[in-house]
Formats: sequence, structure tokens, C-alpha cells
Amino acid sequence: MNRSVHFLLLLLTGGLVSLHGDTVLAVARPRPGSEARQPASTAKIKKELFAGRVVMLRDALKRRGIKSTDEFTKLVVLERTDGELIPIVPDWRGRAFYQDKRLRNRPVELVGYRRDGVPFLQVLMIFTIDRPKSAAGTKTTNKAKPANGKTLRQYFDYWCDICSIPMYEIKQCECCQGPIRMRFQPRSLPSYLTNEPKNGDRAK
Ligand SMILES: [Zn+2]
Repeated sequence: MNRSVHFLLLLLTGGLVSLHGDTVLAVARPRPGSEARQPASTAKIKKELFAGRVVMLRDALKRRGIKSTDEFTKLVVLERTDGELIPIVPDWRGRAFYQDKRLRNRPVELVGYRRDGVPFLQVLMIFTIDRPKSAAGTKTTNKAKPANGKTLRQYFDYWCDICSIPMYEIKQCECCQGPIRMRFQPRSLPSYLTNEPKNGDRAK
């Protein structure tokens, strides 16, 4: 059945109204067995993989024909590969996306979680995804470049070469006050993820 016929049937039967009612109810009513009554700190956190690109919220809205004013200027969102927009909490890990434009507009896979009823993503790990620039058999001497046709997933953080300590936002080194650099390390995803990256969910 095509979509417009389906829609017409829903209208005729009043199904749309009840469908809408169900949706509203489903949002308002806590799910059976949910941990909504527990304090946030003890609620079980479901760590998932979120793939897409981090972009400025206003740009993402503009592409969808939504105009917004200056109040949104600083906000960044993950534009998921399925098109969903997920705002990012500027905490110890997510803040880097607000500070460092080099992390935006590039394919990423983020390990993180959303608490029940909270739309914001809390990021725990950042992976960047690189693809070979050309499909042709160009050889490269750099080991950090992806092999032909394969994507390269790298764990990202900031690093001080003097003190050998990682950091998660861009600033002077906590220890020596010197400059820090972006660090990319080839690494596979953690095993505790509750969702597997599907083909369609890959960062593009
Ligand atoms: Zn240092």
C-alpha cells in the first residue's frame, strides 16, 4: 500500500487521531520498568555508538528550512547518518566540539549515552573516520592513512609531547602550560556498546 493511500485510510477511520494520541501518551508516560524514578546517578547508562558528523546547529536547521536567531549560534549537534540531530552536552568530553572546528564537519563515531527523557548526547569517546581520498591505487607511505577502499577509525584526544598526558579539551597543557596537539590513534570500538554499527549507521 502506498503512503498516500495509507494516510487517507487513517484519516477516514480516525486512525490518525488515535495514532497521534498514542504517540503523545507514549512520550508522557514512563515506560513500564523504566528507571525514571531513580536518581539520575544510579539509573543504568546505556552506552551506544552514534555515527555522523558534528555541525553547527544553525547550519543544520538552515538546511532543513528552519530559521533561528543568534541564541543558537554556539550550539553544535551531531547530525546522525539517518539525519537525526542530537545536541551535544559541552562537558569534559563534548566541549571539544564547541572549541575546535577541526573536529566538526568530518565523519565521526561517538561513544556516548542519553539519559531517559534527555535529548542531549553525553560523549565519552571520540573516533574520527577517514576514507582514502581517491579510489585509485595510490600508494601511501603514511601508516595512518587508510588502505585502499577501507576506512580508518582513530581514537581522538589531545596530547602533550613534553609531559605525555592526554587531555580532552583544547587549552595549554595542564602540567607544563605548553601547547598541546591533536592525537589520533588507530583503535577498534569498545566491546561494551549496546548497539552494533549497522552498515547504514556508518559515519559518512
Ligand atoms: Zn605538558
